Amino acid sequence: MTVEPKEQAAEMTALVTCQGLSRSYGKGANALVAVHGITCELRPGQQVAVTGPSGSGKTTLLHLLAGLDRPTTGRIAWPGLDDHPRGRVGVVFQGPSLLPPLNIAENVALPLIIAGVGDAEAKERALIALATIGLAGLAGSLPEELSGGQAQRVAVARVLAAEPRLIIADEPTAQLDSDLARQVVDLLTEVAYRLDAALVIATHDQRVAARLPTTWTMSDGALTC
Ligand code: ADP
Ligand code: MG
Repeated sequence: MTVEPKEQAAEMTALVTCQGLSRSYGKGANALVAVHGITCELRPGQQVAVTGPSGSGKTTLLHLLAGLDRPTTGRIAWPGLDDHPRGRVGVVFQGPSLLPPLNIAENVALPLIIAGVGDAEAKERALIALATIGLAGLAGSLPEELSGGQAQRVAVARVLAAEPRLIIADEPTAQLDSDLARQVVDLLTEVAYRLDAALVIATHDQRVAARLPTTWTMSDGALTC
């Protein structure tokens, strides 16, 4: 198949580019530099583990990549997302992220409804995502009825339903034993592959990092690609 130059260019467009990014908390003598001098980019389909000790800046970097936070200096852009990260980035957090009064299907549908998708379509997409991940049977359950591993798989279903181009997972397996951790990471990589999304997972766990093709290491706020 011949690839047209335009298609080739679109394929090569980075989802996110960062140049000389830094983020400080506080000002003056009390300023704490959480990340500094970060230059990196993420392309569609790329899968990256971000490792480094606690306090090295992993969460800060992930929040910047997701557009949940703004850099103090430097430049971040999302050329592959028309420069609008909102609604196109799926996020999985370390701990519980399901809203207790909503059932599982409603939890999975919620980001879609917030993004303006109609109730019926959001519910249908939520049920499809849950079924794809093998969790259809939990649709009517409440978050409190789920194990930690099930809750994290539901968080992945919620990402799948939203069909983002970029998936950011901040220590998604920190509260799981190693078998469950492997299942959740495998699920994240499968979902990213299915969506042709880029995937970034921050992790302390070398076994988790080893399952992804690329590792970036954070140290005192600096990134080694
Ligand atoms: P990691 O995720 O690798 O543990 P973080 O990005 O959470 O690292 O933190 C990097 C540094 O920034 C740490 O020294 C942390 O204490 C500090 N930090 C993070 N968030 C805040 C905040 N909201 N206010 C002040 N300092 C913060
Ligand atoms: Mg962190």
